[in-house]
Amino acid sequence: MSTRVVVLGAGFGGLELTTILSDAFGDGIDIMLIDKSDTFVFGFSKLDVMFGRRMPADVRHRYSDIVKPGVRFLQSTVRSIDPAARGVMTDDGKFEADVLVVALGADLDPAATPGLVEGGNEFYTVARAFALRDVLPRFERGPAIIGVTGKSFKCPPAPSEAALLLHDYLTARGRREAAEISVVMPFGTPIPPSPDTSQAILAAFAERGIRFVKDSLVKALDPGRKVAMLSDGTEMPYELFLGVPVHRVPQVVVESGLAADAYGWVPVNKKTLETNFPGVYAVGDVNGVGTPKAGVFAEGAARVVAAAIIAQLRGGPSPEAYKGAGSCYVEFGHDQVGRVDVDFLSGPKPTGIFKEPSEALVAEKADFGSSRLQRWFGRPPSARA
Ligand SMILES: Cc1cc2nc3c(=O)[nH]c(=O)nc-3n(C[C@H](O)[C@H](O)[C@H](O)COP(=O)(O)OP(=O)(O)OC[C@H]3O[C@@H](n4cnc5c(N)ncnc54)[C@H](O)[C@@H]3O)c2cc1C
Repeated sequence: MSTRVVVLGAGFGGLELTTILSDAFGDGIDIMLIDKSDTFVFGFSKLDVMFGRRMPADVRHRYSDIVKPGVRFLQSTVRSIDPAARGVMTDDGKFEADVLVVALGADLDPAATPGLVEGGNEFYTVARAFALRDVLPRFERGPAIIGVTGKSFKCPPAPSEAALLLHDYLTARGRREAAEISVVMPFGTPIPPSPDTSQAILAAFAERGIRFVKDSLVKALDPGRKVAMLSDGTEMPYELFLGVPVHRVPQVVVESGLAADAYGWVPVNKKTLETNFPGVYAVGDVNGVGTPKAGVFAEGAARVVAAAIIAQLRGGPSPEAYKGAGSCYVEFGHDQVGRVDVDFLSGPKPTGIFKEPSEALVAEKADFGSSRLQRWFGRPPSARA
């Protein structure tokens, strides 16, 4: 009987893992890939859609398009996980695995910030980011805040990117002079592991008149008075609020005992990504390995777990330890993209090497997306991300 691998979550981590195992074993492995959604959307596509650069239909990639030997995709919601038995209950039945991979990402909890749902907009869920496409054209004047509401959040450059793209968007509409843009972040600099990237972002903010409010979180909004309340007690008026909602461990993962509570990301062996339960791995945003929550890190983690499964099944040597390294593209506006190559785990402290924004990096980012689509879904290389 083939080894049964059950992968929970078809995001960056789940898709990469499934692809590598299918490439390695073909029909000789039994992979069940489970996701509640019917489509995959890249995180960065949310910014493209909200600022009107792409149409929603163009950035949704249907899981039904995945045709890979050894892989079955099931659209279903995971209701419970039994890590000791490597069993999973879904809306469509129960599944047992020889190897179980939890790649369910980070859940978003806009309701955890009082006033955000009623009086603001968040741009991290697909639904709300896409809805902003119709909200932003109605913003005419006044203060706009891009505000982070929790310390741990996906894609640390995203709030800065949103501010720079909002600047371009308002400039194109002739509304920039009537608006003030501020970014509220819980860090002292935009990208703490990379002083050069932070400096470049702060220079871009200064050039465009964007205010950076450091070491602060938005704790609540008062929609009646249209003010945001910050962690240090100060208030900032807003006309447009674009929020990064509180991130939490998916409830089904907390209930499984894999995580201690909603804010305790799943503990794993830093080298292998295995949880405290043998044969159960946690890959990507859901784990607490200490890397930023970003697709490139989820993908890197998936490669390490795939190598471990391949070594286990073929009896080869143990794979190299997870390095926690990856390259993140950063939208600088003015049709330019920069890049930061970060390494979180191999040295005594995280480092980040900055590559100046350029048009060449715009093309490299597009290629990053289309190459993933080709690998994960079997699309032609010309397909855009
Ligand atoms: C605005 C924005 C911009 C970003 N830009 C970048 C970028 O440029 N580069 C980058 O590397 N990263 C970027 N990211 C971050 C990136 O999207 C995530 O870090 C990445 O998707 C994490 O991968 P993952 O596999 O851990 O989880 P996810 O990709 O979140 O996948 C988890 C999957 O689990 C499914 N799921 C959850 N619960 C259940 C359940 N109970 N039952 C069934 N299925 C379930 C979800 O539907 C989802 O498909 C960005 C994010 C945002 C919000």
